[in-house]
Amino acid sequence: MILYYICTYMSLVASVLFILALRGLSSAKTSVNGNRFGMAGMALALLGTQIPIYFAQLEVSLTLTLVKVIIVAILGGIIGYIIAKKVSMTALPQLLAGFHSLVGLAAVFISLASFFCIYGIPSVNHDNMRALEMVLGTTIGAITFTGSVVAFGKLQGIISGKPWRFKGQRQINNALGVCLAALIVAFTVRQTPELLIQTMMLSLVIGYFLIMPIGGADMPVVISMLNSYSGWATVGIGFSASNGLLVIVGALVGTSGAILSHIMCKGMNRSLVKVIFGSFSSHNKITNKPDEQAHGNVKLCSPEDAGFILQNANSVIIVPGYGMAVAQAQHVIKELADELKSKDISVKYAIHPVAGRMPGHMNVLLAEANIPYEDVFELENINHEFGQTDVAIVIGANDITNPAAKDDPTSPIYGMPVLDVEKAKTILFIKRSLGSGYAGIENQLFYRDNTMMILGDAKKVCDNLIKALKER
Ligand code: NDP
Repeated sequence: MILYYICTYMSLVASVLFILALRGLSSAKTSVNGNRFGMAGMALALLGTQIPIYFAQLEVSLTLTLVKVIIVAILGGIIGYIIAKKVSMTALPQLLAGFHSLVGLAAVFISLASFFCIYGIPSVNHDNMRALEMVLGTTIGAITFTGSVVAFGKLQGIISGKPWRFKGQRQINNALGVCLAALIVAFTVRQTPELLIQTMMLSLVIGYFLIMPIGGADMPVVISMLNSYSGWATVGIGFSASNGLLVIVGALVGTSGAILSHIMCKGMNRSLVKVIFGSFSSHNKITNKPDEQAHGNVKLCSPEDAGFILQNANSVIIVPGYGMAVAQAQHVIKELADELKSKDISVKYAIHPVAGRMPGHMNVLLAEANIPYEDVFELENINHEFGQTDVAIVIGANDITNPAAKDDPTSPIYGMPVLDVEKAKTILFIKRSLGSGYAGIENQLFYRDNTMMILGDAKKVCDNLIKALKER
């Protein structure tokens, strides 16, 4: 009996540990402890959920229950360890999207299972409130599942990152929304298996229609939004399985995901409602200009010429982007900055809130290379300085510098704040080609008079720049 009460309180302690984990993960310094709290919370959660099943006399022996918990924990731990070791930093967003899809699927399965049976016993006579919980769990879970699969495809490059639009899209989407609402009400009242399955199928389709039209540049918000959905899907699982811990943890994830989405939207000057439903209801045409319409000539520059320009500069701002992460150029960038500083040139770093492929991506990489925190500035704190800067070195970044966000109302990134690199006296663009970035749109900066393109891998080019500077 004492063990039973201990288990009940285990869930409560696990919830507190998850809150401490979230708090710890909010800063690089405390993140290791945050992870430890999370692991301890998960261990307690497993025990606290499984042992009461034994006490409810649904399991034959306590030893068997404990053995099951240990096997599940070890198997899950091994899979998690292998994934963590294998996945590269640049692939984390798609990994998250993949995990979110699993949470969505779990919510669907558990809602369906608790409708049809509980622990092998067919369940009958649900009241309306319980039916509503189940159908909402199924709906949110199914939307999260297909939405996350599409987000995974877009981030992995399997599906095009360009917004998906077609004639009559708005009307079709509105009709789907109305049908879903009608099915949810109908199931809550009548509770037939057919209605639940139809709701699930329609929700799966809506998840696809919801995320497919969202363009590349808005994907950061989509990821945090799906994170939030997966939290609410977990709440649905918690209600269906009568598990308070899942309700608490799901609400934590759901709320923190919603707050992150809000912060990302603010950083990108987007409205959350428009990102979620804007593309769902919008009928704007995408007017990407094809590459052939590029205006002006491109000035190519060798590392030796760039070395000469840098040698004569007093101030430099480095703008890192996704390409820096791909090339793993952060360490060599630090060496380049040290070389410039040794020549009394001021060096600062400008970080855009959605640079790279996950929130804080650039900050993590620069910190890994021991770049001093005081040299690193967020967009709003450095944008005004480009006008007084001699050289802006853009390393593997593209969308976050694209002036179309300011000048072209038809551009998918219009309205997103960008780094004003074009105001620097000279821009040195380091990338491998004139190709576009994640949003798939052309960058007119490549053709500006004050832009010099140094084509090549970011790491190799930076190495050559250091050599050129040292030789002077
Ligand atoms: P972009 O994707 O706009 O551009 C990156 C550039 O890096 C590419 O144009 C590519 O050009 C270049 N590049 C790739 N590999 C290398 C390499 N080895 N060496 C040198 N250059 C390289 O990245 P940004 O950081 O400018 O912008 C981020 C984009 O990602 C935004 O659109 C944002 O919305 C989106 N996004 C952000 C997320 C986040 O949470 N931060 C999540 C999901 C999407 P080339 O091929 O010519 O070398």
